[in-house]
Amino acid sequence: MSKPRAPLLSAGADETVKYTTCYMCACRCGVAVTVRDGHVAHIEGDPDHPVNNGVLCAKGAAGVMQQVSPARLRKPLKRVGERGRCEFVEIEWDEALSIAAEWLGKIRAEDPRKLAFFTGRDQSQSLTGWWATQFGTPNFASHGGFCSVNMAAAGFYTIGGSFWEFGEPDWERAKYLLLFGVAEDHASNPMKRGLGALKSRGAKVVSVNPVRSGYSAIADEWIGIRPGTDGLFVLALVHELLKSRKVDLDYLSRYANAHWLVIDAPGAADHGLFARDDMGRPLCFDRKVGRFAEAGAKDADPALAGAFPLADGRRARPVFALVAERYLDSSYGPDAVAERCGVPATTTRRIAAEIADVAFNHTITIETPWKDCWGRRRETFVGRPVSVFAMRGVSAHSNGFQTCRALHLLQLLLGAIDCPGGFRFRPPFPRPSPPAQKPAGKTVAPNTPLPGPPLGYPTSPDDLLVDGTGAPLRIDEAYSWEAPLAAHGLMHIVIANAWRHKPYAIDTLFLYMANMAWNSSMNPAETMRMLTDRDESTGDYRIPHIIYSDAFFSETVAYADLVLPDTTYLERWDCISLLDRPISDADGPADAIRQPVVAPDRDVRDFQSTLLELGVRLGLPGMTAADGSPSYPGGYPDYLVNHQRTAGVGPLAGWRGVDGKRIGRGSPNPKQLEAYVANHSFWRRELEPCQRFFKFANLDYLNFAVDMGFVASRDPLVMQLYVEPLQRFRLAAEGHGSRQPPDRLRPRLIAAMDPLPVWSPTFEDETDRADSFPLHAVTQRPMPMYHSWGSQNAWLRQILDRNALYMNAGRAAEMGFEDGEWVRVVSRNGAITVRIRAMDGVQRDTVWTWNAVGKRAGAWNLNADAPEAVQGFLLNHLIAERLPADCSGTRPLNADPVTGQAAWFDLRVRIEKLSAHEGKTAPQFEVIPRPPGLAPAPAINSFGGRVQ
Ligand code: SF4
Repeated sequence: MSKPRAPLLSAGADETVKYTTCYMCACRCGVAVTVRDGHVAHIEGDPDHPVNNGVLCAKGAAGVMQQVSPARLRKPLKRVGERGRCEFVEIEWDEALSIAAEWLGKIRAEDPRKLAFFTGRDQSQSLTGWWATQFGTPNFASHGGFCSVNMAAAGFYTIGGSFWEFGEPDWERAKYLLLFGVAEDHASNPMKRGLGALKSRGAKVVSVNPVRSGYSAIADEWIGIRPGTDGLFVLALVHELLKSRKVDLDYLSRYANAHWLVIDAPGAADHGLFARDDMGRPLCFDRKVGRFAEAGAKDADPALAGAFPLADGRRARPVFALVAERYLDSSYGPDAVAERCGVPATTTRRIAAEIADVAFNHTITIETPWKDCWGRRRETFVGRPVSVFAMRGVSAHSNGFQTCRALHLLQLLLGAIDCPGGFRFRPPFPRPSPPAQKPAGKTVAPNTPLPGPPLGYPTSPDDLLVDGTGAPLRIDEAYSWEAPLAAHGLMHIVIANAWRHKPYAIDTLFLYMANMAWNSSMNPAETMRMLTDRDESTGDYRIPHIIYSDAFFSETVAYADLVLPDTTYLERWDCISLLDRPISDADGPADAIRQPVVAPDRDVRDFQSTLLELGVRLGLPGMTAADGSPSYPGGYPDYLVNHQRTAGVGPLAGWRGVDGKRIGRGSPNPKQLEAYVANHSFWRRELEPCQRFFKFANLDYLNFAVDMGFVASRDPLVMQLYVEPLQRFRLAAEGHGSRQPPDRLRPRLIAAMDPLPVWSPTFEDETDRADSFPLHAVTQRPMPMYHSWGSQNAWLRQILDRNALYMNAGRAAEMGFEDGEWVRVVSRNGAITVRIRAMDGVQRDTVWTWNAVGKRAGAWNLNADAPEAVQGFLLNHLIAERLPADCSGTRPLNADPVTGQAAWFDLRVRIEKLSAHEGKTAPQFEVIPRPPGLAPAPAINSFGGRVQ
């Protein structure tokens, strides 16, 4: 650790430098913050920090301006007028917490499900989820269902980890990188550093994305694919690899379930399940001895092809035989998929040949002895240096789960997961796939915690949260037949369901950092109406209470009954925990804290401490001692040090034990936060060289992982080419078992819950919309902004303060549109007025725009005529949370049928000429007045920490 850097030294000024963790996007870089006379004066990257090594992006530097944002909330607010009009009075914290505790205490005593608690960009989900568990409501989730749960769930069910925080390309060694739909705000500095390293070594970067923005712009090759067809393209690559026999069979049978036998008995209740021995262990067929053997046996020589008679006369086939049979079919050939994907067959063949060449002819060997799970000593790590990385672009479709599975299939066939040069897990991953945790909430009782966390990973219909009639038990329909593997919940359906009182009425909607009255909802106009709608018979709001916590005056503030103002990230203690989404890299686990670098100059409190205090007022177990006093009287920092989720395992892994010498497990250390602060607010443990690869079957690593509490045993973690739990849902849809889906969902479950990756058109593409809505419409995040926070920041607004609808220049000319023309964009859900801009780097049938730049007039304390309000817009107005009614008259969710992920990239539109326009975007809404306590925005926000 280098010495703390010298302050900037302004004559006569009182300056210090404090190290903390950035929160201007999700990457969690280390930053050095110069504080001058008690104000944030300057932010730069921390050269010692493992995430960014000193690199700082525009967003990170602009954290200075978050501290002087005129949109910062200043004091708790209580609604006194109509909802939506921002008619509040300022109140004291004690009154605010008393009101919240009264509402919440009443419903906890009656029916805890009447609380729906949803959070947005919350980085403290291990706390918020635990709080919901202790409260006793299953109605909890963060924003993942709106963002990338397909990516996470597909990874956790397939390989025991996922892209993004859970793994990374081997930046040092990869020779070929395939990028799919990467969202720049989600993979910023670490990705830029990695891409720089990779390209400087001459590695090839191929970007598959309908839009050539961000990382696609620096890729060596851009494949402008049609939205929603990535999975088909990937399976065509799989077809080519199988056809040319460029597949790592040893890897597949050693580390994946390629050799496990699948019962082949169509119509039987166990068709498609694994053949198992008497102890329930999956079987393979051992060619060496000519009989069945336990699939994990050390010395078996498993068959990967053929069919083998079981004792009962039926037959079973190895998973790999099913893989080969399916994907060698000509329907997956490059010629068959070319038109649909918009990718020439020659391109697909060439990419497949290139990755096969790199993987099999340019292997990497690292001379390091290690021991595998079966006790065999190995002398080297051999890697296939093809890396794959993906994010929301492929995920936010109604076929996203299976598309993400297809990506993992491609990686597995190459043998390119957690090897030198491949995609590598970041500890605490990999973990067993699927994870053992099941969602709690089948039964809920007054004043009683749930028996486990509300979010988890079902493995059969028995794990669903549905009642005897099949109706959802959660307000967001997560873990119902419409979204069986909804590992992150379905935030986008909460308000609509709460308004409909379906599946039941709730009492309190509790939101944190989730701008659900605007850019975090589909169809915001209808959402705003629902939030203000009253029951005709009683005159009461249909959603009786709304509590909202945020640091800023977002659009959603106006709809709250009670506002609990949060601090900024520079004003609080915080934790980036291994229990949640840590900052580890592939060579070592790491976590971090935030420390307050300045004191709030407003009457605000960090939400996490507020939540703990509410827990005490409600008497929640874990937060309240036997005598009713707080378990964590020091608030969130007290919790960070002293909370133990399991014996010896707490939010922070570093400097545990009374003497601070333990890591991972150990009793609480009262000086733990001091140790973090002294180490620039992070902790990291470098893995030994022998622990760094093939972590799923590396005994040296797994011994460490067990000691740290990452996994429960040293058994190998077998990756699942074939996901048996999916087949269990499919069997139910075919009529087997006691838990049965509604008839209307059977065909879709049979199609979607395929245990092998499968591609199907998105729901919007299923019906031919070429005439009515010929264009796909998607969004991208601008690299300098992070959701709606960034687009109110005075410095970042100077980079981008409005958005346009971008379309292919050639296509625009053919359609008679000019660059800069105002147009009407129509979907089946509505219409918006926007300006179009022509560009070359976008697929011909696709239009796109920057997400969350458009703001409602008046919100965020921007001027009512701010460019964001009158020249900015959201595509959300064109998207509904439900699809048109099916043959049963039911409107299905506009979501992936496996996970419930919001399918907002499925959108189809047409563009129409306007005979006249007002020079501003539409729709426009009534200007939101400023809430009390916020001064009018200054004409200029000054650098250096003062509002002029
Ligand atoms: S990449 Fe994200 S976390 Fe890192 S400095 Fe930029 S905004 Fe902050």
